[in-house]
Amino acid sequence: QIVTRIAPSPTGFMHIGTARAALFNWLYARGRGGKFLLRIEDTDRARSTPEATAAILRGMNWLGLDHDGEAVSQFERASRHAEVAHAMLAKGDAYKCFSTQEEIAAFREAAQAEGKSTLFRSPWRDTPESEQPDAPFVLRLRAPLDGQTVIEDEVQGTVTFKNATLDDMVLLRSDGTPTYMLAVVVDDHDMGVTHVIRGDDHLSNTPRQVQIYAAMGWPLPVYAHLPLVLGPDGKKLSKRHGATGVEEYRAMGYPASAMRNYLARLGWSHGDDEFFTDAQALEWFDLSGINKSAGRFDFKKLDHISGQHIAATEDDALIPMIEGYLQSIDAAALSASQKETLAKALYCVKERAKTLGDLIDKAHFALISRPITPDEKAEKALNPVSRGILAELTPHLQSASWVREELEEVANNFAAGKDLKFGQLAGPLRAALSGRSATPSVFDMMLVLGREESLARLADAAR
Ligand code: GLU
Repeated sequence: QIVTRIAPSPTGFMHIGTARAALFNWLYARGRGGKFLLRIEDTDRARSTPEATAAILRGMNWLGLDHDGEAVSQFERASRHAEVAHAMLAKGDAYKCFSTQEEIAAFREAAQAEGKSTLFRSPWRDTPESEQPDAPFVLRLRAPLDGQTVIEDEVQGTVTFKNATLDDMVLLRSDGTPTYMLAVVVDDHDMGVTHVIRGDDHLSNTPRQVQIYAAMGWPLPVYAHLPLVLGPDGKKLSKRHGATGVEEYRAMGYPASAMRNYLARLGWSHGDDEFFTDAQALEWFDLSGINKSAGRFDFKKLDHISGQHIAATEDDALIPMIEGYLQSIDAAALSASQKETLAKALYCVKERAKTLGDLIDKAHFALISRPITPDEKAEKALNPVSRGILAELTPHLQSASWVREELEEVANNFAAGKDLKFGQLAGPLRAALSGRSATPSVFDMMLVLGREESLARLADAAR
């Protein structure tokens, strides 16, 4: 069975690159009847915060990336990590190193000054136990000194590291706490992880992790190291380019399905397909489709895909999405009557909205209630002359039945009779119905609002 995981460090917000790695792991596992696990890498006590963990959980939840079982805390497994380090010591695959931080720093400084390699080789590697001092020590891996460590990576291909360039990494610190490198391997092994799909910033750690697997005689996972997410200019995605946090995208009103679609496309492709559903992504996703070169974040493309997702979402599903969005930006929740009118308005606003915020903005006329305060432009459209026109039009509408053809006919005939262009009538009508100057068509608004509310708004404006 395939088991994947995402192992974020809870040291800040949830980065878009983490979300993409999570999505790839989720797609790979879920598309193959496998398991997708979550491990919080909270070993760095100084930098890990409960708020950051909460942000990760919220981000995963919003993106719909459900994980199997409980989230694992790496910190809580520290004694298991130490147990493995001691097992390696007992087998001779690790050794006690008594060099102090100061000694190592002094060595490095001297080596640097002399232009020599700063790679530290512990003088304690071969010291028999009987000659070891009674002093604080770290446990180091007895790594191979020559030969190569080879990684067969599903994305990067064969990557070879010369063992002579790798030092004997520390497994357990002198206070008995595990290093990150040890913890990752023990956890992945114990959690049964079969595929490690993560950012290629971890590629340089991989030979060290592979050496730990080898020392323990554990089967290696399949590795797939993903190229970074870059900004539109080809530099590492940063604040400069725009939002980098998952929750920022939520607050910008992108539907989770659009984010999944866009992030899947960012660094992975299936032919020329840009827009796809979850079902298609689950069916199509494969490690072989991951691009070797970094994906550039394209905000326009995200908008485009987002618009397509909004248009393709059933109205019944759209309302809860809008409610979740409003909650995420701490906006007031929709009242029951707002929800009802909004549901009626969706058909005429959802085709052109790029984001949920956009959608709400277009549906403004359906969410407001009387008395309507016109904005500046709408105010201008409501001058004494146009108010008079609205007053004259109103009785014609009152006697019309409230269906599109008839409303159109009444308005057109009225305009023709007054020698008005349709726009001269639509402007004030729009302003009266919505308090704005850019909205869906006046007929759509009248149909959504219904006879009573529409006529009441017109009467308010004609006054
Ligand atoms: N904790 C690491 C990170 O947040 C991930 C380690 C891994 O996936 O192996 O970058």
